[in-house]
Amino acid sequence: MNLSHLIDGASFDSGSTRWGDVFNPSQGNVIARVPMGGATEVDAAVTSAARTFRSWSAVPVPRRAAVLFDYKRLLDLHADELARLVTRENGKTLDEARGDVRRGIEVVDFACGIAQLTKGESLPQVADQIDAVTMREPIGVCAGITPFNFPAMVPMWMFPLAIACGNTFVLKPSEKVPLTALRLAELFLQAGLPAGVFNVVHGGREVVDALCTHPGVAAVSFVGSSGVAKHVYTLASAHGKRCQAAGGAKNVLLVLPDAEPDSTLRAILGSSYGCAGQRCMAGSVLMGVGRKTADDWRDRVSAALASLKVDDTSRNDAAGMGPVIDAAAQARLEQRVSAAPASGAEVAFRGSGGPAGGFFVAPTLLDRVVPQMSLFQDELFGPVLSLLRPESLDEAIATMNALSFGNGATIFTSSGAAARQFTREIQCGMLGINIGVPAPMAPFAFSGWNASFYGDLHVQGTEGVMFYTRQRVVLSRWDRGYVRAQGW
Ligand code: NAD
Repeated sequence: MNLSHLIDGASFDSGSTRWGDVFNPSQGNVIARVPMGGATEVDAAVTSAARTFRSWSAVPVPRRAAVLFDYKRLLDLHADELARLVTRENGKTLDEARGDVRRGIEVVDFACGIAQLTKGESLPQVADQIDAVTMREPIGVCAGITPFNFPAMVPMWMFPLAIACGNTFVLKPSEKVPLTALRLAELFLQAGLPAGVFNVVHGGREVVDALCTHPGVAAVSFVGSSGVAKHVYTLASAHGKRCQAAGGAKNVLLVLPDAEPDSTLRAILGSSYGCAGQRCMAGSVLMGVGRKTADDWRDRVSAALASLKVDDTSRNDAAGMGPVIDAAAQARLEQRVSAAPASGAEVAFRGSGGPAGGFFVAPTLLDRVVPQMSLFQDELFGPVLSLLRPESLDEAIATMNALSFGNGATIFTSSGAAARQFTREIQCGMLGINIGVPAPMAPFAFSGWNASFYGDLHVQGTEGVMFYTRQRVVLSRWDRGYVRAQGW
């Protein structure tokens, strides 16, 4: 199946001769071909979006919200179909894919309240006979560039809010998972969104760079790895655009001796091996404070991994863990695990991989990882968890704060005092207390810090609304003298 760009409400064929393969990662076979666009396709999409901005931004807010409500209804109806599409092109389990879709729909739900979210402020009589009013206005054509790991949720962090605010949008989904993005766009059109408000251009770096430099684009939202986030932020900012660019992560799960064992084990497994470790909020470092805690958790996690069923998620709805995204990710992770002993780490547990042909990586626990190792410092983005053994809470916090990233961290404890110290001292933006994946829900911003985020206003929540609108302040003076002069 050959896919198309979606521009001005219709398939767009620029005659491009470059194509990319889309795989089913569970089986390693090609399921579609995606056109790799460039400046021509971006210009066509931005031109359509810029033209439509004039009419869409003038649509009364409740009518814009009505389209969002219809979209939400259609997404609910098609949630299972979308989840199966996510599983097919991304490889995550059906349950995980359902979560991916559900979290995205929650943003649409949030965007349905756009009237309340974009109301301004007023201050009558700010000076003699002068009233002040603020209003939030859409900014124009917004671009979204998204990663492979959440084919539904991450694009939906962006476009529903941007469009509800009165902007028009050009989405460049990951070329590895274009099918879900296209289906999301088709359903939005079906919900009554006018052609040209939401466009999809496929491709890789050429499309990204063209969006970051096109004079018709007002704002760029990016989610992906830190190196590319920095590149996008630098390029888009240099071209006068507002930009929010969320990057990679290295998230720590810190276990104190008083953690409740059963719920903590479930949380660690879900965080570190859920979505095959390919979440930006995945726990990729486990810290057990004190030797006994570290030993206990090495044994508990290893025992649980022995019964984790890795399988073809496109055939088995009950698979416990699916593949990683592609052969390159599989080879990279295999190399990191096989090189671990030479760096001084120990392979504490290596599970079994999935069926032949798919891009499976066996769930792995590495022990005796220390802060000086690249295994600790680099984002691995796969089902490989590294165990560190700090002696104290202070040492654990200092070690975590030496990481360049600042996305997520979690503490498992029954102590309010320890949780409070952790919350106040950790240098990252999304913290969990006895929560394995502390990913904020739709009303809250996705608040990465340090190398996990470039920009000011984060995606999602009210920060997302601020990002997709700009403020106008109107001061007005109506002099009473005029009324008197008229004899009224
Ligand atoms: P990626 O950075 O390789 O790709 C992201 C997007 O950038 C894709 O659309 C891709 O086509 C494009 N791209 C890739 N290389 C580029 C280049 N050199 N120049 C311009 N554009 C380029 O990321 P990925 O592998 O698709 O996704 C995994 C990464 O995303 C991980 O690092 C993960 O932590 C991160 N992520 C972060 C968050 C967050 O909220 N912070 C959420 C999800 C994923």
